[in-house]
Amino acid sequence: MAYRITFIPGDGAGPEVAQAARRVLEATGVQFEWEVQHAGAEVMDQYGTPLPDQVVESIRRNGVALKGPITTPIGTGFRSVNVALRKALDLYVNLRPAKSYPGVRSRYQNIDLVVVRENTEDLYAGIEFEKGSAQAGALIDTIRKLADKSIRPDSGISIKPISVEGTRRIVRWAFEFARRQGRKKVTAVHKANIMKYSDGLFLEVSREVAGGYSDIEFEDRIVDNMAMQLVQKPELYDILVCPNLYGDILSDLCAGLVGGLGVAPGANIGDESALFEPVHGSAPKYKGLNKVNPTANKVNPTATILSGMLLLRHLGEVEAAKRVEEAVAAVIAEGKFVTYDLKEDPSDPSAVGTREMADAIIAKMKEMAPAG
Ligand code: NAD
Repeated sequence: MAYRITFIPGDGAGPEVAQAARRVLEATGVQFEWEVQHAGAEVMDQYGTPLPDQVVESIRRNGVALKGPITTPIGTGFRSVNVALRKALDLYVNLRPAKSYPGVRSRYQNIDLVVVRENTEDLYAGIEFEKGSAQAGALIDTIRKLADKSIRPDSGISIKPISVEGTRRIVRWAFEFARRQGRKKVTAVHKANIMKYSDGLFLEVSREVAGGYSDIEFEDRIVDNMAMQLVQKPELYDILVCPNLYGDILSDLCAGLVGGLGVAPGANIGDESALFEPVHGSAPKYKGLNKVNPTANKVNPTATILSGMLLLRHLGEVEAAKRVEEAVAAVIAEGKFVTYDLKEDPSDPSAVGTREMADAIIAKMKEMAPAG
């Protein structure tokens, strides 16, 4: 039976990388029925919102989505569709693996890290008070009374909530993931020495959850030390479980260790639904290149194709996922049919476009698993 998957092409360079991933997934032989849904600035006029209800309903119904990046226009009051989707579907896990593939230019080799970032709390909760507002003033007064601490009156304030429930579910998820993937260690990242009641709670709950998983090693690191260790000795780490902000920063650091955004896949996962998308954005400066020359679009589809590989694993299609990853790795290692960012010299005229790289990956999969 075919899997029904919501397909959101996105905008900018999104539709092309999303289409590349869709074609690669179809080439595995696993059967899919795609329910195409549109979100972002392009549907604003038609629906009066960048995230029409039917998009969220479609993901709820199907439980799984593949998505291209969507632009968040700056200064228009337009809320990020990406953040809104994570909220609407309670996608509390942001999964960001960082793995070295020979052939990708990087200062490091043999990296295989996974960042499990909490996606709903912390400084990203969206609870903010503008400098000079009546609410900021009232909050400053209240804090003076409650905590006997003064805050300068010209301060803007962002609130950092971290809950037992929110921490428990993300840390559990990280341990369950470790078990499923046969991984050895989970490291909780925090700044509990300074923020005793938010990061301190994160650490305490992490330790409590770790107690239930004696088969997986557990340790913790203070975030600044973690950043340094990742640069100096990344091989010592396996899965990092982090509150939202540290997870955001460290996952970019980890993407940097393995060659950057072009190869960084991601997933946003909740108990009911999961949405797979690359870490990178819509790379708007590339939009339209394909109109000048149908084969000229340059962005690297790898991050989205590897997000599709994560989708296959999520569905339990482990063998197909493995084939996708091996084909991606082989095409990158050969270095011939790859986009400019994977060439030694980015202006190398032999660099291929998005679609051609996907074609090469599909051809490689066929080579690896002859029909029949
Ligand atoms: P971006 O990731 O789109 O681009 C940053 C730079 O990285 C680009 O100039 C490009 O050189 C490079 N790059 C990105 N993807 C690449 C790829 N696949 N291949 C090769 N090079 C690639 O980040 P940005 O410019 O900060 O954001 C553009 C828009 O995307 C913004 O509106 C932002 O809000 C949005 N965005 C969306 C998502 C999402 O949909 N989940 C995520 C991040 C950013």
